[in-house]
Amino acid sequence: MVNIRPDEISSIIRKQIERHNQEVKVVNIGTVPQVGDGIARIYGPDKVMAGELVESEDGTIGIAPNPESDNVGAVSMGDGLTIQEGGSVKATGKIAQIPVSDAYPGRVVNAPAQPIDGKGQISASEFRLIESPAPGIISRRSVYEPMQTGLIATDPTIPIGRGQRESIIGDRQTGKTAVATDTILNQKGQNVICVYVAIGQKASSVAQVVNTSEERGALEYTIVVAETANSPATLQYLAPYTGAASAEYSMYRKQHTPIIYDDLPKQAQAYRQMSLPSRRPPGREAYPGDVSYSHSRLLERAAKSSSQLGEGSMTALPIVETQAGDVSAYIPTNVIPTTDGQIFSSADLFNAGIRPAINVGISVSRAGSAAQIKAMKQVAGKLKLELAQFAELEAFAQFASDLDKATQNQLARGQRLRELLKQSQSAPLTVEEQVATTYTGVNGYLDVSETGQVKKFLVQLREYLITNKPQFTEIIRSTKIFTEQAEIIPKEAIKEHTELFLLQEGK
Ligand code: ATP
Ligand code: MG
Repeated sequence: MVNIRPDEISSIIRKQIERHNQEVKVVNIGTVPQVGDGIARIYGPDKVMAGELVESEDGTIGIAPNPESDNVGAVSMGDGLTIQEGGSVKATGKIAQIPVSDAYPGRVVNAPAQPIDGKGQISASEFRLIESPAPGIISRRSVYEPMQTGLIATDPTIPIGRGQRESIIGDRQTGKTAVATDTILNQKGQNVICVYVAIGQKASSVAQVVNTSEERGALEYTIVVAETANSPATLQYLAPYTGAASAEYSMYRKQHTPIIYDDLPKQAQAYRQMSLPSRRPPGREAYPGDVSYSHSRLLERAAKSSSQLGEGSMTALPIVETQAGDVSAYIPTNVIPTTDGQIFSSADLFNAGIRPAINVGISVSRAGSAAQIKAMKQVAGKLKLELAQFAELEAFAQFASDLDKATQNQLARGQRLRELLKQSQSAPLTVEEQVATTYTGVNGYLDVSETGQVKKFLVQLREYLITNKPQFTEIIRSTKIFTEQAEIIPKEAIKEHTELFLLQEGK
């Protein structure tokens, strides 16, 4: 007779029921009736999020920028050849994200943040969404520290602060990229991470930026995100968001991060190219209606973090190419109000041989002198005023035949100040050098040299000051103030150097 123990049996059954875990896995799948121009139309998947990643049977990843109610247009992240008509596509439930880590500086990557410099894999420490909301007011503090470009044509008169957004606008081949790359070189030794995003540029121009940075030891703190002119439109569109995500990663790790988008109109064109085949209604100039929203949400991510968040910063420098100086075209008119100022590089000045060809008179920075050290403020105000007066006087003097002595002097001073703003490429100036140079110009010490000699005079003067009077740099660096005691030093240097210079020039 078998002894049946109902208690034991029921406890075993109960345990098995408890352990039984019926996992229901819902896979959100749709079918692809049509593929064309890199766009796959997918019918069937339920509730796809905007920007969600979709995956085809062979693992090709696509992104769904704006899902409609019954179908989703997905753009393939690649050349669009692998998602097949008749195949099926699965929604992944993930919004596009990229790997980030502190191994990225020094590397060149593409929009999915994969290395393209042949230097091997980059280890990731975490993932960041490529689109993340801009920090709110509470998480920011106002911009107050200088983000020096190293250009004397911008730092004294158009000061940029860390966490600001300043666009660089101008026609093709007027030195826009040079302003950006000089800014990168000038960040050396300041524990700063730079991000340079190249969108739709020639591969040769990107290679040049990378080479210059490498030669000057600036690549080690720079992340280059590059999608060149022959990359698929989708990737060109995504590149700036990838750059922004990497910059945010370092901003939230308490670092200062200037990010350059070179350039936004090319990204808008890529967006247009991928939006038209996905049947989004075209707006002005056939751009999709939300192109300005896509730029503003990108630029809004630039910020100066609050003290709770570690005071890191992300400074956005979007480059905008204009056609024949037309700033009223659609994309420039959208970017201009989204930024806190503009640096205009002018084709006329460039053609007149003025390098950098920055038009100081119409360029602005709304951070103003809040983003300057006191020593710079002390000398820069007068420079701005004199340049403005000179511009006005020069236009007027074209029509006058005999000018009185005072006007002639003022014109001569102005011409020399315009020479003072000239600077070679890849030769950024420290703030101390800029203070000394500006001081020399606004106090009339350049009036003795010929206009054509000003640049040479100043280059030599700065060398003289650095080698013979290093105390000047020390005082400005430690006190940040152009004290009376500090003023004696450049005064002496100017006097000594002028004598030498005149002798050297045989006068
Ligand atoms: P693109 O429209 O092709 O992108 P861009 O506006 O970015 O052009 P750059 O490529 O920066 O212009 O510069 C155009 C040319 O001017 C380059 O050959 C560059 O070396 C030269 N250039 C720029 N700035 C200076 C400078 N300060 N001194 C001398 N040459 C310069
Ligand atoms: Mg350029």
